[in-house]
Amino acid sequence: MRAMQLTAPGTLELRTVPIPELGPDDLLLRVGAAGICHSDSFVLGLPYPMGDRPLTLGHEIAGTIETVGTAVADRVVGERGIVYLCWSCGVCRECLGGNENVCLAAGRTAMPPCPGLGPDGGMAEYVRIPARSFVPIGDLDFAAAAPLADAALTPMHAIRGAMDQLRPGGTAVAIGIGGLGHVAVQLLKALTETTVLAVDVDPDKLALATACGADHTLLAGEGAAAAILDRTDGRGAEAVFDFVGSGAAAELAVPAGAPHRADRKGGHAG
Ligand SMILES: [Zn+2]
Ligand SMILES: [Zn+2]
Repeated sequence: MRAMQLTAPGTLELRTVPIPELGPDDLLLRVGAAGICHSDSFVLGLPYPMGDRPLTLGHEIAGTIETVGTAVADRVVGERGIVYLCWSCGVCRECLGGNENVCLAAGRTAMPPCPGLGPDGGMAEYVRIPARSFVPIGDLDFAAAAPLADAALTPMHAIRGAMDQLRPGGTAVAIGIGGLGHVAVQLLKALTETTVLAVDVDPDKLALATACGADHTLLAGEGAAAAILDRTDGRGAEAVFDFVGSGAAAELAVPAGAPHRADRKGGHAG
């Protein structure tokens, strides 16, 4: 099969490799779509090798079950789905608490394996995945669904952590309407009754935020924090989600948040 592999620091190659072999608890997916994440360009730019073998990139994966492992023979060949990217154990203290991104199986400070960043990922014709990482998507378009595995998972994780602050009548601010932020706006509108205020340096991104359901938009820059305070009767927003991670975004997030609540931020769930 063909696979897009990182073969040396900064070098991507389309190579022909064997179709992966399955363990008893695995599924073989025929890849329908694989997203490109900022982490992929980060990995490509690393000055050192990711491991001792070529690595197939791609951790936003959608596809169809092609073959099933012997212990998961009840899974349905032909079913369509996306791949949950924390290949965690599912049984440790953190996994059982819903924090699979800090699964303890790989060690206290190690991240659980993530396809395309350790095990081979989805920029290939086929990918081997643990059966418990398969999430059915019904008839959703593969290309539209693949980024849900990461670009939607990340803001979902951040929003879930702030749900107790996101009550009706409150205000949620999303800073940065890019790959994560434009999904965050939609999630906030779907999951909460808060007023959603989108902030970006680019007017086109603010137009996207409006199309995604944002109640208000605000151009980032001097005076943005004061404008947020103004729109919240001087109270500050109940939750501020930073999807940029720059110093300027943090400097806006802190004064724009209600007291003791400005520490709610987005973060990479993987
Ligand atoms: Zn990613
Ligand atoms: Zn675990």
